[in-house]
Amino acid sequence: MRYFTSPYNFIQPDVRRVKIYDTTLRDGEQTPGVKFSKEQKVAIARKLDELGVHSIEAGFPVISQYDEDAVRAVASSRLGAQVICLCRSKQKDIDAALRADVDGVIVFLSVSDLHLKYKLHTDLQSSVKMASEAIEYAKAHGLFVQLSAEDATRTSLENLFALFKAAEERKADRLGIADTTGCIRPEGMKYLVERVRKNFSTELSVHCHDDFGLAVANSLAAYEAGIDAISVTVNGLGERCGNAALEEVVMALYALYGVDLGFKTEVIQELSDMVSRFSGVPIPINKAIVGSNAFRHESGIHVAAVIKCPFTYESYEPQIVGQTRRLTFGRHSGTEGVREKLKACNFEISENELAEVIKTLKHLPVDSKPIDNGELCDFVSRVLREKGFRK
Ligand code: MN
Repeated sequence: MRYFTSPYNFIQPDVRRVKIYDTTLRDGEQTPGVKFSKEQKVAIARKLDELGVHSIEAGFPVISQYDEDAVRAVASSRLGAQVICLCRSKQKDIDAALRADVDGVIVFLSVSDLHLKYKLHTDLQSSVKMASEAIEYAKAHGLFVQLSAEDATRTSLENLFALFKAAEERKADRLGIADTTGCIRPEGMKYLVERVRKNFSTELSVHCHDDFGLAVANSLAAYEAGIDAISVTVNGLGERCGNAALEEVVMALYALYGVDLGFKTEVIQELSDMVSRFSGVPIPINKAIVGSNAFRHESGIHVAAVIKCPFTYESYEPQIVGQTRRLTFGRHSGTEGVREKLKACNFEISENELAEVIKTLKHLPVDSKPIDNGELCDFVSRVLREKGFRK
């Protein structure tokens, strides 16, 4: 057994697979201050491909010659994953995508009253017409086409259905629901996806933002309601508060839903570190899945139990995501944990000596660095020498 999660998750034996499309190179790169070089984009794309994601959204080629070239570099990297890119509902954008030689495009448009009035300065009919023409043009050029409704979670069903109906009639390959400002909650997402699901037979996808910390929860709610594809970014990178984190969605599907996508999850940590390094955005120590504390234990009760059975305080093996377990010793340590750890590395110690070691740990200065797993034996030897227990 590689994971031990709640029985109340009710994992079904016949779980539904879902596609994962990563947008680290597009939405992730739209993080203020983040810019990937062409080489960095290709390196991230290769790692995503090694992980096994189904599609990689490589960029927004119409923005500049630089962006077009970077998308082309990813598209020509002979990846197993499908390479797609972002386009407004404009022929000019699709021409840039064609020059970048991608497999497909995400054509986006908003038909929420708010966006129609303040951004597009047009009405529903003209917007739907614009999207329809863009889809027809892209399809005529042999591209896979996803039509994404930007701001879908604040769009009336009437407007949303009008757009999706037009897209389905023009044989769009997928319809996308974007929670552009991250303002829906899981129950609302379930309702919305179910309503769309009932009315359309085309594949559906979801793209969630994390403004309320709900991007992953909303993506999983969409999965429960029958979505076919989920958009993610590594480390949850993206505009404002970012997107649904790839590592969290993939691991929640695996360990909480029993969905094995066949991914090589062992590269997740490496991928996360790479994106953090290239983007300059650090990974918080307590970040789910990839944070440096995700499998690190210091409190006495936890350490003692984890040594005997890691599932007491972890729900899956760190190796699954390329992480390692770290036991740390310091002021929070307890006798049992230290005794177990020393026993595990064949370090013999008397009860008196152990008491002295614990006393020393408890009196470590507040600002002292915790003692890592591999350093414990050296630390104990030194303490026992200094206190005159041993020579
Ligand atoms: Mn977005």
